[in-house]
Amino acid sequence: MNNEMMANRDLDVIWHPCTQMKDHEFLPMIPIKKGKGVYLEDFEGNNYIDAISSWWVNIFGHSNTYINDAVKKQLDTLEHVILAGFTHEQVVRLSERLVSLTPEGLTRCFYADNGSSAVEVTLKMSYHFHKNQGRERPLFVSLSNSYHGETIGALSVGDVELYKETYEPLLIRSIQTPVPKDQSETAALEAAEALEECFKTHPDEIAALIVEPLIQGAGSMHMYHPLFLTKARELCTAYGIHLIADEVMAGFGRTGTMFACEQAGITPDYIVLSKGLTGGYLPLSVVLTTDEVYSAFYCDYKLQKAFLHSHSYTGNALACAAANATLDLFESENIIERNRETSKYIASKLEKFRGLANVKEVRQCGMVAAIELEGYDASERIGLKVYEYGLKHGVLLRPLGHIVYFMPPYIITKEEIDVMIDTAYAAITQI
Ligand SMILES: *Cc1c(COP(=O)(O)O)cnc(C)c1O
Repeated sequence: MNNEMMANRDLDVIWHPCTQMKDHEFLPMIPIKKGKGVYLEDFEGNNYIDAISSWWVNIFGHSNTYINDAVKKQLDTLEHVILAGFTHEQVVRLSERLVSLTPEGLTRCFYADNGSSAVEVTLKMSYHFHKNQGRERPLFVSLSNSYHGETIGALSVGDVELYKETYEPLLIRSIQTPVPKDQSETAALEAAEALEECFKTHPDEIAALIVEPLIQGAGSMHMYHPLFLTKARELCTAYGIHLIADEVMAGFGRTGTMFACEQAGITPDYIVLSKGLTGGYLPLSVVLTTDEVYSAFYCDYKLQKAFLHSHSYTGNALACAAANATLDLFESENIIERNRETSKYIASKLEKFRGLANVKEVRQCGMVAAIELEGYDASERIGLKVYEYGLKHGVLLRPLGHIVYFMPPYIITKEEIDVMIDTAYAAITQI
């Protein structure tokens, strides 16, 4: 079985995510046979450095021996059990650890199985919280250029036109306030002022503000200063509005700290975690919230008061075992500390992009780096050209439009970083 045969079988039966399928008339599909560390290997023995952690999830590389063993062991014990009325050791242990790792005051874990669903949980929970307290607050606020997933509710609070525009008539009510325009403190303060204006304009209507702390992932890897989060926390508290920190991408060390909120010294009312949670092994997501929110639903049995949201695979035992193994690795290998060194090395490698004629900005936040290109028309599809160049040279880069970015597994070595970044450099200077 070679690449082409496998690709043809695929194209006969599969409709791929985030893809114009007609592109595959000229763009070969890459069937992957196996993965090890930062490498993916196709059916013809070609290797690719996974510079995007397979859509930002695979933080400890592919086929990590330690996580593999944990999942295998769990497989022979308990693969899954309904989480309503029942529980299991992996989910209990994981929840205890998440409560102790996340910012002080987040004490309750509610599980789902992907980032979008967990965002839906926070929207419903926040709306319902206010309702239980006798307030009708059907409006959500988010930042311009934000991304929170693609189910209807999550899409509604996002602001990436590409995903949202078509479905506009189907969406729930949300308004956007400007994201800080760059990583400066001045920009953070300006955006905080706009946020307060927004809160003032809609008194008693807003349930929650939802943000991606520090980095807007799908929104072109746009980055901003933690001061904005500190100010947003103060404003939310002052106006009785919930703060939802969507750390689906930022969580688990990506921004340089275990959770991005730590850099602002804040506790949100909800933190949403997924992607890195299971080390990129299995679908799992979780919302952590406060005693205050939890208590608003806790009472003698009455219809309409309890939070009746559920997913079949809530708190799946295999996924929780992978998540516990992932947290073990953070502890035993001192990952946050080591990432500091790795991101310094990445920073030094980025310098050479700065003077290039077609580079508008180079930015970095922890283990995410982005190079924003300029001077290309959308129809040129420059991102696609960089993608194809990368594949030809053994690196999986997947630019967001004209933004080339790196979000590698944390285990990447200096030599592998050299190949990853030098390949992107060659692509950018040669295309
Ligand atoms: C990926 C992502 C989501 C959606 O998660 P899925 O598991 O893809 O549904 C939500 N918010 C942020 C910030 C994300 O990066």
